[in-house]
Amino acid sequence: MDPTQISHLALDIGGTLVKLVYFSANGDYNEESRSNGCSVVKGRLCFAKFETRKIDDCLEFIRFNILQHSGVQHSNGAVHDDYLSVKATGGGAFKFADLFKEKLGILFDKEDEMHSLVGGVNFLLKTVPREAFTYLDGQKEFVEIDHNDLYPYLLVNIGSGVSMIKVDGDGKYERISGTSLGGGTFLGLGKLLTKCKSFDELLELSHHGNNRVIDMLVGDIYGGTDYSKIGLSSTAIASSFGKAISDGKELEDYQPEDVARSLLRMISNNIGQIAYLNALRFGLKRIFFGGFFIRGLEYTMDTISVAVHFWSRGEAKAMFLRHEGFLGALGAFTSYET
Ligand code: ADP
Repeated sequence: MDPTQISHLALDIGGTLVKLVYFSANGDYNEESRSNGCSVVKGRLCFAKFETRKIDDCLEFIRFNILQHSGVQHSNGAVHDDYLSVKATGGGAFKFADLFKEKLGILFDKEDEMHSLVGGVNFLLKTVPREAFTYLDGQKEFVEIDHNDLYPYLLVNIGSGVSMIKVDGDGKYERISGTSLGGGTFLGLGKLLTKCKSFDELLELSHHGNNRVIDMLVGDIYGGTDYSKIGLSSTAIASSFGKAISDGKELEDYQPEDVARSLLRMISNNIGQIAYLNALRFGLKRIFFGGFFIRGLEYTMDTISVAVHFWSRGEAKAMFLRHEGFLGALGAFTSYET
């Protein structure tokens, strides 16, 4: 027997976070369409995330908030012959397939991760107004996207790791690069170095820190002056964490705030620079950044934008997406056949 498809839920199970997109009906029907002989259920698209290491919280959420309301709840989550089929993407769609089957009677209808990412971004850029924006010098500016002039662009997804994908059209894309120095590195190193317990705590720390305490600047090497001959200002970072070697200090002598700030700057800068180099390689002018690492954080977006602007001498543009963390999940959601 074919599994029942619940087309109002999709999952993206990544290395750090599980992302859920689901449709919540409010019981209304669109009057106009009812008079046309068909009914359109009104409701809203909902988003939720859980830490992958706490996957049981996610299972409980789905059981009580989604399955119960869809009228397809399996009693006690027991396995029945009539499984439910749900679109799922990300590595966890493989890793946790048995768990979801056993605990919720859900079978994953797997969607390719890159395909979902690109599908999610194209869907957002084509259908959601004020989705993309630039962030430079403290100014957020929404970008009007011309649907006929969308491609090609570079998509940089900053999750646990980083993927860089050249997108040429609907379903036309190539993963051209990536780096393992991503959100997982920021969070992992941050936890080790500052003893903080969560991403939010690490962000909060970074908000109050000063990276110049620990980063070695051009001015530190040049006695406070710029190296103007090659266009480096005295405040440019010559070496991330570089001051830690010369000061003869231990980790405890630094404020966790400064360490967190330096780390955030290092990771964001590096990604911005690699993104720019890949955009240059393929002559791409627009770079969209997504992934949960960004979290709409001004400092992160500013650092990435400055890196892209600086290295491209203003030629390339860094853009961000309002639904940055849910790209893959949205792509999987939109892949249900209507
Ligand atoms: P993945 O699919 O690899 O899990 P995501 O796009 O979900 O990637 O991004 C995961 C990254 O987002 C983490 O490595 C971390 O840097 C950042 N992040 C943002 N919010 C959180 C959070 N609440 N808990 C853990 N990491 C978070």
